[in-house]
Amino acid sequence: AKMHFLSVMSHEIRTPLNAIIGLSNLVKNEDVPEQLKENVNLIHFSSNNLFSIVNDILDWSKIDSGKMALERISMDIYKLVSSLSSSTRLLCEKKNIVFNTQIDPELPRWVKSDVTRLTQILNNLLHNAVKFTREGEVSLIVEYETIKENWGRISFEVKDTGIGMTEEQQEKIFDVFQQADSDITRRFGGSGLGLAISKNLVNLMDSELRVHSEAGKGSTFNFDLDLEITEERENADEIDSSEVLKGKRILIVDDNHVNLVVAENFMKRWGVEYESVLSGQEAIDRIAEKAFDLILMDLSMPEMDGYEATEEIRRRGHVSIPIIALTASALIKNRGKVFASGMNDFESKPFKPVSLYNKLVRHLR
Ligand code: ADP
Repeated sequence: AKMHFLSVMSHEIRTPLNAIIGLSNLVKNEDVPEQLKENVNLIHFSSNNLFSIVNDILDWSKIDSGKMALERISMDIYKLVSSLSSSTRLLCEKKNIVFNTQIDPELPRWVKSDVTRLTQILNNLLHNAVKFTREGEVSLIVEYETIKENWGRISFEVKDTGIGMTEEQQEKIFDVFQQADSDITRRFGGSGLGLAISKNLVNLMDSELRVHSEAGKGSTFNFDLDLEITEERENADEIDSSEVLKGKRILIVDDNHVNLVVAENFMKRWGVEYESVLSGQEAIDRIAEKAFDLILMDLSMPEMDGYEATEEIRRRGHVSIPIIALTASALIKNRGKVFASGMNDFESKPFKPVSLYNKLVRHLR
């Protein structure tokens, strides 16, 4: 019941958030009058914040109910460290603290792990390190040691010279909704979910998240992962694509008018010739009249949902047109169902523009 409640609520919260994040992102990149700029940036920042809280709660509920599943696919660890470093460096610059990255020269490039979850853990540790440090430095240190052929131990360490914690405080910070001190929320914000999630994710990766800290001196968080080294380069193709979407005809199917406006705005920006319809039935009718290169299909719609509409479209002989599911529910219960109904891919709402863009390019190229 708890999972169900959370998945319904998150869907309801994510749908309007999709509009707020998507539209503020668009406005941000337009010529906004100077006096509105800060407000638009704040709307964008706050809605992203809210989005990450909703995601944290969902993640926690997945972990809590034993439904968190990890991937083990080939990932580029240098790319991970470099993108974490550039975002952390920006945060540090704003606070005038130094940021260091140290990478073991022996560190291999391709390993098998769950890049999304690993990013999430390290992001959480780095954000905390910056958040709780007023002066001095934050470091990300990655060490490597070969264990046996094709297997290595990678140690991640995030170190800061911030406020630190007493022994007693260190004992409770990995629990849900726990912060070191009762006035932390007032002083620094935060919900106390991050470390509970990170600790459990690290456990799911068969390791342990450890902390060493001294009040007033700083903190160090670290964990080791035993990972398979690989030569495979899945996910490695960066898409360069400036022209691929121009003039492509995309049909957008969504019963929510605001979501349509968000998607349409991005289509305009990318030079796509789009049409929008508000129901599965209308989509089926429109495709019968006119050729499209791709369909963006909302999943939950009244009367005929996205799965049924897709099945019907495929049944009517439109077998090769790519259909991408767009869905606000973070917990697609059954990813298999998306593909079984005949869809080719899915993207969750609020979508990251880059992510949707790359998917469109991949299917339209
Ligand atoms: P949040 O940061 O949202 O409060 P977390 O679960 O990420 O939640 O962290 C829990 C608590 O652990 C924080 O509120 C803070 O009291 C303490 N903490 C985490 N990282 C650090 C750090 N690098 N330095 C000092 N205290 C920290």
